[in-house]
Amino acid sequence: MVQIKSVGVIGAGQMGSGIAHVCALGGYDVLLHDVSGERIQQGVATIEKNMTRQVSRGLIEPAVMEAAMGRIKPAPELQSIGGADLAIEAATEDEDVKKTIFKALSPHLSPQTILASNTSSISITRLASTTDRPERFIGLHFMNPVPLMKLVEIIRGIATDAETYETAVNFAKSLGKTTSNAEDFPAFIVNRILVPMINEAIYTLYEGVGTVDAIDTAMKLGANHPMGPLELGDFIGLDTVLSIMNVLYEGLADSKYRPCPLLVKYVEAGWLGRKTGRGFYDYRGEKPVPTR
Ligand code: NAD
Repeated sequence: MVQIKSVGVIGAGQMGSGIAHVCALGGYDVLLHDVSGERIQQGVATIEKNMTRQVSRGLIEPAVMEAAMGRIKPAPELQSIGGADLAIEAATEDEDVKKTIFKALSPHLSPQTILASNTSSISITRLASTTDRPERFIGLHFMNPVPLMKLVEIIRGIATDAETYETAVNFAKSLGKTTSNAEDFPAFIVNRILVPMINEAIYTLYEGVGTVDAIDTAMKLGANHPMGPLELGDFIGLDTVLSIMNVLYEGLADSKYRPCPLLVKYVEAGWLGRKTGRGFYDYRGEKPVPTR
């Protein structure tokens, strides 16, 4: 079995920075790549902020943070990721973006490198087929926020071999995570169930059944959810929610997965949720304020 020592992370957004964070704390050397040096720096700054919070809460020692931050290296060139033992792609949820990355990375990979995608919904088999090593390709679906959430969903493509699967499970466990196996069908388990619920909450808003506040309060207090579905959609990123609904709609050919037109409108407006400062709530002031 491959001994994972170094991890390359492609995409330094919410998920990529979270994955880099837990890998560095887990003792792995981390290379962090994104489309620009500025994006990488933003990712590193997010990691620093989140680790500082862990230190202030007494969850990690300052020396542990310092050592972990020292293990994270910016990788402005995609090809430098090719030398890592494990490369985890966590770029935007868009099949063409992901395929372009894997095609560009393939010629630079070391023979032993395992490839993983953190996709929320896209076929692992299809992504794997764009690489030179479908047998060493796997879905490692971390949850948001990565340092807090315990689960990693593991998705094998049709060609994924047993060694890659075992290496991936052991790797997730080494980060203190629990794994759950999902078959390679659109949106796997968590998002097959969760994202249509968020889409339904948006329909509930669209049809005037309730306001943003009424819908989120109802689900928090009535169903004991820690976050309301609209708040959760904003947290995930409405572009990602829309992409997942489209993958479900197209992949399962069932009209029950059609994305709500109001979700489409928010995404078209660039109101993607927390990451852009506005979604179903406006986050630009002291407290989030509903936008409808
Ligand atoms: P994000 O928008 O926060 O970050 C995406 C990052 O990818 C951006 O920094 C962007 O610059 C970068 N990127 C785009 N094209 C790239 C390229 N060609 N090369 C390198 N980097 C590129 O999105 P996110 O929420 O971090 O989602 C990333 C992935 O993780 C998606 O596949 C998403 O479905 C998945 N995911 C998201 C969540 C969630 O709750 N947001 C949870 C689990 C998995």
